[in-house]
Amino acid sequence: MSKKTHTFKAEIQQVLDLVIHSLYSKKEIFLRELLSNASDAIDRAQYLGLTDKTVVADAPSWKIDIIADKEDKTLVIADNGVGMSEEELDKNIGVIANSGTKAFAQALREKSQTNIPELIGQFGVGFYSAFMVAETVTVVTLKRGEGQKAIKWISSGDGSYSLEDTARDKPGTTVVLKLRDGMDEYLNEWRIRELVKKYSDFIACPIRFGEKGEAPKEDVQPLNTMKALWKRSKSEIKGEEYNEFYSHLAHDYRPPLKAIHLAVEGAVEFKALLFIPKEAGFDLLMPHKKHGLNLYVRNVFIGADFDLLLPEYLRFVKGVVDSSDLPLNVSREMLQDDAVIRKIKSNITGKILSTLAEMMKDTPEDFATFYASFGRILKEGLHSDFENAEKIKGLLMFRSSRSAENTFVSLKEYIASMPDSQKEIYYLISDDLDTARHSPHIEALVKRGYDVLFFVDAIDQWVIEQLGEYEGKKLVAVDKGQLELGTAEEKVESKKKLEAAANDYQELTAYIKEQLKEDVREVRLSPRLTDSACCLVADEHAMNASMERLMRAMNQEVPKQPRLLELNPDHAALKRMKAMFDEDKENPRLADFAELLYGQALLGEGSALKNPQRFTRLVSELMAGV
Ligand code: ADP
Repeated sequence: MSKKTHTFKAEIQQVLDLVIHSLYSKKEIFLRELLSNASDAIDRAQYLGLTDKTVVADAPSWKIDIIADKEDKTLVIADNGVGMSEEELDKNIGVIANSGTKAFAQALREKSQTNIPELIGQFGVGFYSAFMVAETVTVVTLKRGEGQKAIKWISSGDGSYSLEDTARDKPGTTVVLKLRDGMDEYLNEWRIRELVKKYSDFIACPIRFGEKGEAPKEDVQPLNTMKALWKRSKSEIKGEEYNEFYSHLAHDYRPPLKAIHLAVEGAVEFKALLFIPKEAGFDLLMPHKKHGLNLYVRNVFIGADFDLLLPEYLRFVKGVVDSSDLPLNVSREMLQDDAVIRKIKSNITGKILSTLAEMMKDTPEDFATFYASFGRILKEGLHSDFENAEKIKGLLMFRSSRSAENTFVSLKEYIASMPDSQKEIYYLISDDLDTARHSPHIEALVKRGYDVLFFVDAIDQWVIEQLGEYEGKKLVAVDKGQLELGTAEEKVESKKKLEAAANDYQELTAYIKEQLKEDVREVRLSPRLTDSACCLVADEHAMNASMERLMRAMNQEVPKQPRLLELNPDHAALKRMKAMFDEDKENPRLADFAELLYGQALLGEGSALKNPQRFTRLVSELMAGV
């Protein structure tokens, strides 16, 4: 192949410019990124070696060399990992704006630029950080396998790069950085050693340093200790080390919320190091991205993103599992139905859920952070993991009529704060918090000192189907069916009162029903209103308004389900209407009032009016005293 020049996609150029010009303070991270890539490449080669004996012959020892040349001002990072084909090179660090780069550029536009160092790893654009210290980056790579040829990639980060054929003895990748002026510190062994210790100590193969442009000999003492963190005992690991390992693993440079270090012995033996991140990485938003843990079997890396080790609803957890109970020549397919894997999964799941429960109790602020980031994903577990449903329920938190602006209440807390007369858990499904807080449906409950949970996440609609009850307390929708509140005597009392009023209002309610017969199934007096004149309620087993809107938004066929209009007999508007009705049943104003009541009820629950123009005209007339 003769030399070919290509231009970077616009997004890549944008990322490059930002990386080069905005990261003055954190230039040193380029080494962490390049070493991380080299170590990934070796992990993958090692895995290939399980089935392909030529890999082992080729690379008797896995290694990463860092070679400095003070005269030439070059720094080389070379690995004997999987290498890349021309196509891969092009795809991974070339023209194609891979989804990571695109999303990164998008995030940069949206977020303030101060977060750039954190964003870099998360979006899988670590390679470009090389341009922070290098004016030219050259990659020479040879992919493992027969019939592959070595390729050289060169770029100055200024809009284009070139590809050409070259030679390389053995498979692997060499990255050559021609350092910019003022970057000489990265040619000193002490500085490189410091950085390897800081960021890359746990990389599993030796990282050695060579000077004067010469590769280090195999007997040179490595810069890293290579001790896999999960194999060391908890007591000797510093928090900082967990954080660095998490960054390496998750490409997320914000410290994790929680590290869970497990060494399980007994029926199944494994070690695991799991992390609960602070915030959702953008990978969680990518539907095709696999989620899961990295699996090692007796020190050998088997693969990343092993989704068999984690249930879907815990896919935000990052980490490593190392087991000696699995065969080395495993494949994903073989593990699909493996008893050991299932045991590990169930053990890990239990541990994560109990860690979250502890966090909820001991460090509620951390739990709130967790919940804001992953609460929605966790809720999916109610549908998929029946075995752990009670534990998941215990972790749920909701907004409520009593809780302040941004706070949540757990079901346990809700029950603990129930007055004696309250026997059930009340909730309202709504599109948004504001509508819920001002909903007429909760008036009588709030007046009684009962709290009402607000289910305002789209997924809450499905959650409720699984919730049913908690600790023997039934969950009751405040906008459905008949609502009976208070003690047994109070219930009898209010029923009596309502029946008496219903008698008085019988003719008027029948009249209103006749006026609204297209829209409502029934008109009756309400036990749930104190301040509002009216509201709409659904039958016990029917969908409420918010659910109906959601289904329609998802293009689902929803049969029209006329609801019930409930009236507040104590409200002045109803009293006035009754007086008008008793005086002259033919008064044409009455029909308008019936329509206005219905309109108000729709607005009160956050639904749209049937005919807004007519509604506003009627209101204006009323204001003008017409
Ligand atoms: P990330 O490593 O987060 O995916 P990078 O921009 O650092 O993002 O690298 C992009 C891709 O290029 C990697 O996913 C990998 O496939 C490939 N790559 C980078 N460095 C190497 C290397 N030393 N050996 C083999 N492949 C590499």
